[in-house]
Amino acid sequence: MTHDNSRELYDRALSVLAGGVNSSVRATQPYPAFVERGDGGHIIDVDGNRYIDYIMGYGPLLLGHDMPDRVQAAVQQYSAEGPMYGAPTEVEIELAEFITRHVPSVEMLRFVNSGTEATVSAVRLARAVTGRDKIVVMEGGYHGAQESTLVEGSGTHTQPSSPGIPDSFADHTIAVPFNDFEAASEVFEAHGEDIAAVLTEPILGNYGIVYPEEGYHDHLRELTENHGSLLIFDEVITGFRVGGLQCAQGKFDIEPDITTFAKIIGGGFPVGAIGGRSDLIEQFTPAGDVFQSGTFSGHPVTMAAGLETLRYAADNDVYDHVNTLGEQLRAGLTDICADQAPDYTVVGTDSMFKVVFTRDGGATGGEDGDHCAAGCRQRPSCPRYEACPKNAADIKAAETERWVRLFRTGMREEGVLLPANQFESQFVCGAHTEEDIEQTLEAYKEVL
Ligand SMILES: *Cc1c(COP(=O)(O)O)cnc(C)c1O
Repeated sequence: MTHDNSRELYDRALSVLAGGVNSSVRATQPYPAFVERGDGGHIIDVDGNRYIDYIMGYGPLLLGHDMPDRVQAAVQQYSAEGPMYGAPTEVEIELAEFITRHVPSVEMLRFVNSGTEATVSAVRLARAVTGRDKIVVMEGGYHGAQESTLVEGSGTHTQPSSPGIPDSFADHTIAVPFNDFEAASEVFEAHGEDIAAVLTEPILGNYGIVYPEEGYHDHLRELTENHGSLLIFDEVITGFRVGGLQCAQGKFDIEPDITTFAKIIGGGFPVGAIGGRSDLIEQFTPAGDVFQSGTFSGHPVTMAAGLETLRYAADNDVYDHVNTLGEQLRAGLTDICADQAPDYTVVGTDSMFKVVFTRDGGATGGEDGDHCAAGCRQRPSCPRYEACPKNAADIKAAETERWVRLFRTGMREEGVLLPANQFESQFVCGAHTEEDIEQTLEAYKEVL
């Protein structure tokens, strides 16, 4: 496998693009594979190398790289008629109707252009309707490049995780470890009156994939309800992926007050959305007075691509396909790890998967034979329960450098393209095949 053309493009890119890329995770070691084109579940790079792709745009590409005919036809029609107007179109209503029909907690939506925009507006809305400033987030949770949630530290001792953000933003943000019932209770005991909302991903999807412990979401739901705070589910990554059309909140049977969406609902084009009960969402301007606006919001080409993608998924058992392959992959990886890397933990659900390079991950109790067979489910009866990662600190303690410097590059040489680091989720898409899965498992066997 040669990478001369990618190397040359990266050299050029470094002169005119900061770090050679337009989103930081794309700057993979030693340099990124520049893409020539996609083909189903594969990517072909500018040196002609073909990879099985599990980056899938970092989440948006449920169907893979080939748009089904109806998606392609819609995209072409809407771009040909005039890409956008600054006036409303019917297709915006249609996508909103599709989402509200499938996600019970969502009665009304506001479309925006990215997940970041969605979480910014959701936080503003929560603060406005509660008249409170504090936001509770999960350590290691990701809500885009927004000032209020780019924090490090713990509890009320948070500070901005990037230069350029005034400390005063972090003063209003409280961070708790995911899956820690007690920490959430304590924070509400101390600050309940000041907390506008808990903002969390239903599954930590940007930090190793951490599955919630049984009852954790119910606990958050109860705490927020008892203290007059809102529960915001950030379903930017899980929306229309985990739990299929009902999203992760359906899978876990929780009704958040507000939900943020992005990624899949744009069918591969830039998108975001804030959804929830009408009495909340109607507080946005012009219905209410919480300012929210965007030149490109509800872009017709995006709306059409998202709508036809979701319709296609609903009509063609796409979730069955990707979840079955996901299960096969996680089960295969679980066997390989048991054999070759017993400390490592296979995580993920539905079409998400990852092997986290945990240290000391061996069995510590529980009954042998009761292992999570296809991805960690945080079951107390699993022999690995004590050792499997439950929060961001556990993921952070894993062998990140080995993942980045040896494992990922090794997999790339085997023709399997994985994300930049061990924090980012990997995705099975509608175009992947059983053959892809088998080839992928062989590659893991070789490189792990
Ligand atoms: C990707 C992601 C975001 C940010 O979305 P962008 O479209 O990249 O701004 C926010 N929250 C979660 C959970 C995400 O996975």
